[in-house]
Amino acid sequence: MKILVPVKRVIDYNVKVRVKSDESGVELANVKMAMNPFDEIAVEEAVRLKEAGQVEEIVAVSIGVQQCQETIRTALAVGADRGIHVVTDETVEPLAVAKILQKLVDKETPQLVIMGKQAIDDDSNQTGQMLAALLGWPQGTFASKLALNGSGAEVTREVDGGLETIGIKLPAVVTTDLRLNEPRYASLPNIMKAKKKPIEQIAPADLGIDVTPRMETLKVTNPPARSAGVKVADVAELVEKLKNEAKVI
Ligand code: AMP
Repeated sequence: MKILVPVKRVIDYNVKVRVKSDESGVELANVKMAMNPFDEIAVEEAVRLKEAGQVEEIVAVSIGVQQCQETIRTALAVGADRGIHVVTDETVEPLAVAKILQKLVDKETPQLVIMGKQAIDDDSNQTGQMLAALLGWPQGTFASKLALNGSGAEVTREVDGGLETIGIKLPAVVTTDLRLNEPRYASLPNIMKAKKKPIEQIAPADLGIDVTPRMETLKVTNPPARSAGVKVADVAELVEKLKNEAKVI
């Protein structure tokens, strides 16, 4: 079985994101970038399935600027076998990503696509669902457990107030939630080995996909700054402030 794992290059989750002064977006110059954390979980899950002997090949895919190569290399260092880099300088919206992935699925014929439930930069939470719809495949979203059983998979999903376990037929799309696994760190020898693994480069136009954005960002602003707290003398004053100032009771 072959698994396709899309991996997005995003601002590292430890970085405090700064809004550009012209409110057109967030500052990306000289900012540390990394693999989207949910995609790290997707790669880890694919590698674990390979280690369990249930999967033969893992293909990591990234769509974006030249530096997405580094994101693919990270996936290769953790255990993916080869990479596909769809190179573009455009901002690629979820629908365009899903259309590109659909074309790659047609070409690569994986049995499973494991991807993040959302990218932590745009927080869209759309691509996996759109890809499943375009392919006409079943989907198991927000997976906190995944078990393959021959022609199908059992996916335990994180839903409001509990867990839901569903059975889906393969081929399918699975999107990862935080509790699915804890991704490993790449070892130095594996980072060196990853440099020799192949990465194919293609352009969206080679796949016949137009990635021109359909949305226009009107403005990006900082959340309102928090005002300083005050000390209250007693419960009566607290209740008075909650009622008359905060107006929450
Ligand atoms: P989103 O729908 O944008 O929140 O992204 C959900 C998932 O789609 C991510 O966790 C990735 O697995 C995948 N994805 C989105 N954009 C890209 C991209 N540019 N390259 C590769 N994978 C992507």
